[in-house]
Amino acid sequence: MKKAVKVKALNFSTSWSYAPAPEAADHFQLKERYDLFINGKFSAPATGKYFDTINPATEKKIASVAEAGAADVDKAVRAARQAYEKTWSKMPAAERGKYLYRIARILQERARELAVMESMDGGKPIRESRDIDVPLAAAHFFYYAGWADKLDYAFPGRRAQPLGVAGQIIPWNFPLLMAAWKIAPALACGNTVVLKPAESTPLTALRLAEILQEAELPPGVVNILTGAGATGAALVNHPGVDKIAFTGSTEVGKMIQKALAATDKKYTLELGGKAANIIFEDAAIDQAVEGIINGIFFNQGHVCCAGSRLFVQEGVAKEVLRKLKDRISTLIVGDPLDKNTDVGAINSKEQLGKIKALVNAGIREGGECWQPACSLPSRGYWFRPTVFTQVAQSHRIVQEEIFGPVLTVQSFRTPEEAVEKANNTPYGLSGGIWTDKGSKIFKISGKIRAGVLWANTYNKFDPTSPFGGYKESGMGREGGLHGLLPYVKLS
Ligand code: NAP
Ligand code: MG
Repeated sequence: MKKAVKVKALNFSTSWSYAPAPEAADHFQLKERYDLFINGKFSAPATGKYFDTINPATEKKIASVAEAGAADVDKAVRAARQAYEKTWSKMPAAERGKYLYRIARILQERARELAVMESMDGGKPIRESRDIDVPLAAAHFFYYAGWADKLDYAFPGRRAQPLGVAGQIIPWNFPLLMAAWKIAPALACGNTVVLKPAESTPLTALRLAEILQEAELPPGVVNILTGAGATGAALVNHPGVDKIAFTGSTEVGKMIQKALAATDKKYTLELGGKAANIIFEDAAIDQAVEGIINGIFFNQGHVCCAGSRLFVQEGVAKEVLRKLKDRISTLIVGDPLDKNTDVGAINSKEQLGKIKALVNAGIREGGECWQPACSLPSRGYWFRPTVFTQVAQSHRIVQEEIFGPVLTVQSFRTPEEAVEKANNTPYGLSGGIWTDKGSKIFKISGKIRAGVLWANTYNKFDPTSPFGGYKESGMGREGGLHGLLPYVKLS
């Protein structure tokens, strides 16, 4: 922290601590070099270029990964088109469903290695990748497998036909889950796919490619192209793509929307967020505090729907803040592969830089910054859980998405004031309400302009539930029955 900084560290010492409980990483083999997955085979990129993917907790290289250029994108789109026309769209829907069930089952069988790989490549605690990312990824395949031969029931009286080739671009915060979230509904509806994972977390998508081979998915139905932003842009602009599904930042989402404006490609955009968690005086406070912690420190705050703004009703504001700080002081920050870890590594050096810059801006604007006195590993990218008080609606840290473990806390007097403050951002992805009164939940949730609202819980996901945003948080819905619609044309 810079000088003139109002940082107060709470010296919280416990008389005991957990012994390290690292998850083993020797039960699977990683390759030294990964190629592109096109037409059912791994092949070297036409660019001849490879980039490193590193472990953000150690800064050590894990593997070299192929960088796809425009010629590779073209090859993959052609493979997807051929698979669409010759195989996938012609196959009886129930047969398509069988492949999806098979993929789901192999994901379950390989759950342990996928979880470890996800934590190594992205920095998230093993507890999360093991209990959330991987089981949910399998659940998405199971769920959409069920829909494959029931599209007539999803859209009664209408005929649902696939669109063709879907280009899918995903971020680094839930790499395998985002891949499943996008691939499963596309395939269930009869489309074929070219997927581009994020540059910093390509490994589980590449392992998924091996699982697709094992499931004997026909060649070309799913193609996986690793690379950076330019690879994504080449996919967006390829004339052979019928639909783009993008999850990532609002900034890139806007660029994609512009690029697609004069085309007939369909698209869905799942973008950033700045969710409000609202605690009313009648809430179960301890439960709410636990939910707030889960809402913002889960996955280092690398969550589009992270509850990054907390609004507390005045009468309980002091109590909530005290309990929040006490609880944060017990969080274990460190080795993502340790089963005790609550807060893992920040995904990349760039992301750490963004978080630091916004936190410093918050301090300059007069916010009071508090962090626990936890120790951090000497190597890797880390950021302590951070709480800001004394902030105003106009402050950058209250308006902009930080995508890190940083919470702003403000108080309110009336429900109307809470709603007005909660809605006062360019985003509208998610939010949380904590109260004992069911009527208040319904009244307030109807006024919050956000796609997903949790009541007396937070960050709960399920493949049957639609997900998506208002305003600059994007357009279209993924998940559930709604998640089929972006992948079909109805007649
Ligand atoms: P990002 O920079 O927008 O990147 C997302 C993906 O787009 C990555 O694969 C990226 O490649 C690629 N990309 C970059 N520039 C591109 C371009 N010009 N054309 C096409 N593709 C391009 O976002 P991020 O920093 O990885 O992810 C964090 C953001 O995602 C946050 O804003 C978060 O809120 C949002 N997010 C939203 C949801 C949701 O469902 N609403 C879910 C998760 C995350 P490289 O990584 O290789 O650069
Ligand atoms: Mg990595």
